[in-house]
Amino acid sequence: MSFLSNDVLESVRGRAGEYDRTNTFFHEDLEELRAAGYLAAFVPQEFGGSGLSLEDMTQEQMRLAGAAPATALAINMHHVWVGVARAVHRTGDSSMDFVLRDAARGELFAFGVSEAGNDLVLFGSDTRATPDGHGGCAFFGTKIFTSLSPAWTRLGTFGVDNTDPQNPINVWGFVDRDPAGVTIADDWDTLGMRASFSCTTTLHGALAPAERIVRRLPPGPSADPMIFGIFSTFEVLLASVYTGVAQRALDVAVATVQRRTSKATGTTYDQDPAIRWKLADAAIALDAIYPQITLAARDLDAGVDRGAMWFPQLSAIKSRATETALDVVNKAVRVSGGSSYFNRSELSRLYRDVLAGLFHPSDDESVHNAWATTLLGPTT
Ligand SMILES: Cc1cc2nc3c(=O)[nH]c(=O)nc-3n(C[C@H](O)[C@H](O)[C@H](O)COP(=O)(O)OP(=O)(O)OC[C@H]3O[C@@H](n4cnc5c(N)ncnc54)[C@H](O)[C@@H]3O)c2cc1C
Repeated sequence: MSFLSNDVLESVRGRAGEYDRTNTFFHEDLEELRAAGYLAAFVPQEFGGSGLSLEDMTQEQMRLAGAAPATALAINMHHVWVGVARAVHRTGDSSMDFVLRDAARGELFAFGVSEAGNDLVLFGSDTRATPDGHGGCAFFGTKIFTSLSPAWTRLGTFGVDNTDPQNPINVWGFVDRDPAGVTIADDWDTLGMRASFSCTTTLHGALAPAERIVRRLPPGPSADPMIFGIFSTFEVLLASVYTGVAQRALDVAVATVQRRTSKATGTTYDQDPAIRWKLADAAIALDAIYPQITLAARDLDAGVDRGAMWFPQLSAIKSRATETALDVVNKAVRVSGGSSYFNRSELSRLYRDVLAGLFHPSDDESVHNAWATTLLGPTT
C-alpha cells in the first residue's frame, strides 16, 4: 500500500507546470504533503512518525517525482536528514535523535553542504566553524544549491574548525533559520528543477548550539556512521527521484504515440516498428534500475555490511539511475515528436528537470574514480 494517495499526487501534478513556468516555490505542495504526514513518513514510530522503511521511501519518492520532479527532489533533502538520523540511532547513538523528534513535529530540514568549486563534498569545506565557548559553533561561509530555501526551518551543514591549524576538524551541526546568522539569496533561475528553489545561503555566524553539533571529524574520507548515513540515504533516494522522472516520461511517451498519427501509414505511431523499438529500449534500460535501488535500500534497512563495496556500489546506483533517466527522457521526447518541444508540454519540462541529475554527487568523475580504485588500487 502506498503512503501518498493518488489524490495528493494528482493535486501536486496539477501545479508542477505552473511552478515551473512562473519559477515559484512549491508552497501549496508542501502544505499538502505536510498535511498528509509526509514530512514524518520516514521517522520511526517510536519518535512519532509513520516508520516507513528506506525501501518504502524509494517507492514514495519515485511516485512523487513522477508527479512533480522539483518537489520530490527538494523534499528528498529533508528525508535524507531523517534517514541519516535513523541510521545513527540504529548504531545506539542518540546524538541525532532530535532530528527525528523535530521532523515528527513538523520542522523542515534542508541540506547545506555544497559549496562553489568544492569537489571534496562531504570531506572538506571552505566554511569556517568557530567555537562559541559553550560547545556550540558559529558557521561562516557560503553554501550553494540549498533546496527548500523559502521554507526550511533547520539547516544541516558543516564547516572547518581551524582553532588548532595543525589539527583542523570538520564540524557538523544544525542551525535555525535565523536572519541574524543566515541570509538566503534570491538567485534561483535555472533550466530545470525550478520549483526546488535551491538558492545560495550565506552563513554569517549561524549558530548550532552544543546539543545540535552532531559530529567533529578529521577532514577527508571517513567511515563514521553519519557520513555513511548521508552517502547511502542520499544516493538511494536521489536515484529514486530520477527514476520516477524517467518512468513518467515513458508513460507520457506511450500515451503520446498511441494518439499521434502518421499520414504515411494512416495509423498511430504505436504501430511504427522504429518507435516501438525506441520505447522498448527505454523501458528495458529503466527496468534494470528498479531492482538495484530496491536491493540497496533493503540491505541498508537490514544493516547488511557490504564492506568496502558499499561506496562504489551506491555511487554507481546513483550514476546509472540518473544517466538512464536522461536517456529514457531523451527517447521519450524523440518518439513524441515536435509537440514535446513546446514549453507547455510536460515532456519538455521533464527533459529540463532530468538534466539536473548529472550535477548531484556522485558525479561521473567520482563514480569512475571509486570503481577504478576498487579495481586497480589508488594511483601512485
Ligand atoms: C536542482 C539541484 C538541487 C540541489 N540541491 C542541493 C541541496 O539541497 N543541498 C546541497 O548541499 N547541494 C545541492 N545541490 C548541489 C549539487 O549537489 C552540486 O554540488 C552542485 O550541482 C554543484 O556541483 P559542481 O561541482 O558540478 O559545480 P561547481 O563547479 O562547484 O559550480 C557550482 C557554482 O560554483 C561556481 N564556482 C565553481 N568553482 C568556483 C570557484 N573556484 N570559485 C567561485 N565560484 C566557483 C560555479 O560558477 C557555479 O555557479 C543541488 C543541485 C541541483 C542541480
